Amino acid sequence: MSTAVHAVIALGSNLGERSTTLTDAVDELTAHPAVRLRGVSAIAQTRPVGGPAGQPDFLNLVMEVETTLAPLELLRHCQHVEQAHHRVREVRWGPRTLDVDIITYGELASDDEVLTLPHPRAAERAFVLQPWAWMDPDATLGGRKVAELAAAAADRDGLAPYPRPEDG
Ligand code: ATP
Ligand code: MG
Ligand code: MG
Repeated sequence: MSTAVHAVIALGSNLGERSTTLTDAVDELTAHPAVRLRGVSAIAQTRPVGGPAGQPDFLNLVMEVETTLAPLELLRHCQHVEQAHHRVREVRWGPRTLDVDIITYGELASDDEVLTLPHPRAAERAFVLQPWAWMDPDATLGGRKVAELAAAAADRDGLAPYPRPEDG
C-alpha cells in the first residue's frame, strides 16, 4: 500500500452485546482489502455524554488503520459496518448498537459536514481520547498530546477500563 494513509477510527456501543459488537466491527472494518489494522485499543466503559437521560453506559475503543480508501470511501465503509449492526438513528446522541466515527485521516483537515476532519468533537471527548492514548501514548491531535487532552476532558471521570480490574 504505497499511497496508504493512517486513519484513527473510534467505535462505541451501548445496546446489545456491546463488547462483541465492538470486536466484530473491528474485524469487519479490517476485512476490506484496502484496510489494514495497525492497532486497536483496550475497551473503555463510559457514561453517555449528551442525548437522552438514563441511557446505558457505552463501551468504546479506538483503532488505527492503514488504508488506500479515499476519505469518503472510508466513511461509506464505516457506515456499512454500522448498518450491519442494525443501527437505527432516532435521537441525536441517543443509544445505538454501534457508532463508527473517523477521528483523523492522515493530516487531512475538512469542514465538510458529511465528513469533518479531524472529528470536530474528538478533542474534548475522553471516551475517544483515553482509549486512543492507551493504544498510542505518543499520539497527538491538533498539535497537542492526546493523553493530555484526555486528562483534561470533562467526561474523564465517567470512564473506566473494561472489564474493570476487580471483575478479574
Ligand atoms: P458525533 O458526530 O457527535 O459523534 P454521532 O456519531 O452520533 O455524533 P452520527 O449520527 O453517527 O453522529 O453521524 C451524523 C453524520 O455525521 C453522518 O451522517 C456523517 O456524514 C457525519 N460526519 C461528519 N464528520 C464525520 C466523521 N469524522 N466521522 C463520522 N461521521 C461524520
Ligand atoms: Mg459519534
Ligand atoms: Mg457517528
